[in-house]
Amino acid sequence: MSKPVVAIVGRPNVGKSTLFNVLAGERIAIVQDTPGVTRDRIYADVEWLKYQFTMIDTGGIEPNTKDIILSQMREQAEIAIASADVIIFICDVMQGLTDADAKVADMLRRSKKPVVLVVNKVDDFQKYQADVYEFYNLGIGEPHAVSAASRLGIGDLLDDVVALFPENASELEEDDRPKVAIVGKPNVGKSSLINKLANANRVIVSDIAGTTRDAIDTDIKYDGREYVFIDTAGLRRKNKIKEEIERYSIIRAVTAVERADAVIVMIDATEGVTEQDAKIAGIAHERGKGIIVAVNKWDAIEKNDKTMYEHQNKIREILSFMPYAEIMFISAQTGQRVQKIFDMIDMVIENNSMRIATGVLNEILAEAVAMQQPPSDRGRRLKIYYMTQVLVKPPTFVIFVNDKKLMHFSYTRYLENRIRDAFGFRGTSLKFIIRERK
Ligand code: GDP
Ligand code: GDP
Repeated sequence: MSKPVVAIVGRPNVGKSTLFNVLAGERIAIVQDTPGVTRDRIYADVEWLKYQFTMIDTGGIEPNTKDIILSQMREQAEIAIASADVIIFICDVMQGLTDADAKVADMLRRSKKPVVLVVNKVDDFQKYQADVYEFYNLGIGEPHAVSAASRLGIGDLLDDVVALFPENASELEEDDRPKVAIVGKPNVGKSSLINKLANANRVIVSDIAGTTRDAIDTDIKYDGREYVFIDTAGLRRKNKIKEEIERYSIIRAVTAVERADAVIVMIDATEGVTEQDAKIAGIAHERGKGIIVAVNKWDAIEKNDKTMYEHQNKIREILSFMPYAEIMFISAQTGQRVQKIFDMIDMVIENNSMRIATGVLNEILAEAVAMQQPPSDRGRRLKIYYMTQVLVKPPTFVIFVNDKKLMHFSYTRYLENRIRDAFGFRGTSLKFIIRERK
């Protein structure tokens, strides 16, 4: 079940970041605060009533000439059209209706994507009422007057956004083919890998009507099974500023990972693993997907008997938050080891949806507790009553204890390691929820 994606598009300074932050509230998943991240958030998880969705802010660097503004807005709109289920198009009542707004509105209308038109900075509705109606002229529906800064009109806006979500999207497309997202920095070889896999295997040409966001999926048959590969390379960016490229590659990664069962995080062997790779890998980790790290361009580096080991160590260090990830060394160009990817995908997906019976789980728990005493604080010792797996994708365990405050992070980690020793779970994160039971 993938969560709907909502994208925000609009001119610089209309209030995209402000609205984004208001909608995201406090319950957000921010891209890690590693050096080099753009000043604002790029994506966030939003909850409204019974709905959950992923919101992305397509806005990047603020350009200062008219031509650049229009071309940048077109790019934003393209990204939104390619990746979102619903687009929030935001205008500014103070700047009024601009030519660029009209052109982008045309683009959005032609895409047939559901669009919610927002007119921001309506801090005083009486005063601006007539100006708001002006925006009907865009021809993309009713303008929603809001003031992001004073949080006016936000509830009504969200009501209308969630009403446009594809109805029971998950049931409608009951599709059990494994979906695999290939993510990574520009030029690591994502498209090359898909091309290689496609040339070596049978590509299934499907003509599923509807969502344009499937346009970049490639269906490949291997060993009697169909796989859907989601390419995040997509839109080619030429002569772009570094921050902007980063932003787009993160947006592509977020929306692709959202739909995927397994994620191939691609790293360029000739450059080595970087913080930007960690940021992209972090998206797949946060979302609890099956993960394979593929070190590509293995043909292009000089190797000796330690090279693989050194790469592995460096990856384990930079991607220290996902020690469970499987690592492969491949060449999308020569095809070295690329066919092994299918078995790897099957394995991580299987582990990502594996269920352990409560009885077996508690045998392991009892053994673990006997081997290493739970922590205590001021004479009070943590008691662990039992544990049970409540969810898959990723496997999620609830541990019932006497006092949550006594459960130490390192002890949870210890239990996780014991569970991994017993059941494997290679290639998937595990989640633990600690509950008190009196
Ligand atoms: P972005 O470039 O589209 O992301 O715009 P920002 O969110 O950075 O906002 C641009 C400016 O508009 C900032 O100075 C905000 O404080 C201001 N702004 C945002 N929302 C409102 C609003 O509802 N009313 C008013 N008066 N100003 C706002
Ligand atoms: P993407 O932006 O991640 O989709 O990367 P591309 O697939 O477009 O590849 C970027 C560049 O790297 C191209 O020039 C490819 O020919 C090259 N490349 C991709 N895979 C390999 C590989 O395994 N070995 C070598 N030597 N070059 C590769």
